[in-house]
Amino acid sequence: MAFEGLAERLQGTLNKIRGKGKVSEQDVKEMMREVRLALLEADVNFKVVKDFIARVKERAVGADVFESLTPGQQVIKIVNEELTALMGGEQSKIAVAPKSPTVVMMVGLQGAGKTTTTGKLANHLRKKHNRNPLMVAADIYRPAAIKQLETLGKQLNMPVFSMGDQVSPVEIAREALAKAKEEHNDYVLIDTAGRLHVDEDLMGELDEIKELAKPDEILLVVDAMTGQDAVNVAESFNERLGITGVVLTKLDGDTRGGAALSVKAVTDTPIKFAGMGEKVDQLEPFHPDRMASRILG
Ligand code: GDP
Repeated sequence: MAFEGLAERLQGTLNKIRGKGKVSEQDVKEMMREVRLALLEADVNFKVVKDFIARVKERAVGADVFESLTPGQQVIKIVNEELTALMGGEQSKIAVAPKSPTVVMMVGLQGAGKTTTTGKLANHLRKKHNRNPLMVAADIYRPAAIKQLETLGKQLNMPVFSMGDQVSPVEIAREALAKAKEEHNDYVLIDTAGRLHVDEDLMGELDEIKELAKPDEILLVVDAMTGQDAVNVAESFNERLGITGVVLTKLDGDTRGGAALSVKAVTDTPIKFAGMGEKVDQLEPFHPDRMASRILG
């Protein structure tokens, strides 16, 4: 399970303080040293950890004591609130354009789970929001991507727009938007190409699609298992393209959690969804508060 190590360590540390009737500055200091180590070990970005610890310390030392909570519980509450804030605070929902269709560009590196997530998101929009999305196969470089999306479309019984791999992605996007208007699709999900690394060709092409499709949402799909790399990828995509949200995939794996805990702080972009498995229904809206509570037990 994701975050197992982090959860175990944090819970162990916090349990020591939970029952305390009095919490001294020294207690808080010691506890924060352990929390700091646990976060670093979970691969959370160094600077993010530093700021986080400073915020909790400041609040914990000066905290008013609520009558219903022991001082120990109070410190835990502060850690919980700050963890929630770190991951974005409020749940951040997918965009809805004032005028249909809402255009969503799916971007990310190859293997991150972009195509799978496109199918999952289409399913989510239909099931939870009663929408009628059109998926667009614009990843013309990875040979299996178009077929993969078409297979997902069949499985879900939902439309997929494709023009093969001999037409430029920009042209595909243009035709797809026209088709969506004709067919009254209220969402258009464009599955774009990925590369193994962030490179100028990739960004140039994504820029062109962005220019044409004027997306309401650019969702970056990143693999949570890659830890700090996921955060670096998010930073590059955000600087170059301006992303509006992140989907963290493979949170069902035994990721240490660093990406989930750093990506919002580093890019100032919310995590909107979490991929929890390979199946089409294994996509969940990301709830920072629930995730924090899961980590802290
Ligand atoms: P793309 O190259 O970014 O389009 O990546 P794919 O959508 O082809 O996904 C790459 C691999 O990751 C596939 O084997 C997917 O089944 C798998 N995958 C995607 N999302 C998840 C997830 O949330 N959990 C797990 N366990 N596997 C996932």
